Amino acid sequence: MKGKDLINSGKWANCYICEEIFKRKRETYRYCNICGEAFCEGEHGTFEGKKMGICVRCYSLDIKNK
Ligand SMILES: [Zn+2]
Ligand SMILES: [Zn+2]
Repeated sequence: MKGKDLINSGKWANCYICEEIFKRKRETYRYCNICGEAFCEGEHGTFEGKKMGICVRCYSLDIKNK
């Protein structure tokens, strides 16, 4: 189950970057609107006001594509 699905069903999700790279669990209530994975706000993604959240991985891909 993706972070997005967990969060939308009212559950906390683990930041996928923390889990994948640092092998630690950090609960978050934010998810990326591009890949649908949960990320911890501030460190591994941004979430501005009513705008959609984006994780650092999609963010860097987005910049390369421009
Ligand atoms: Zn993280
Ligand atoms: Zn993403």
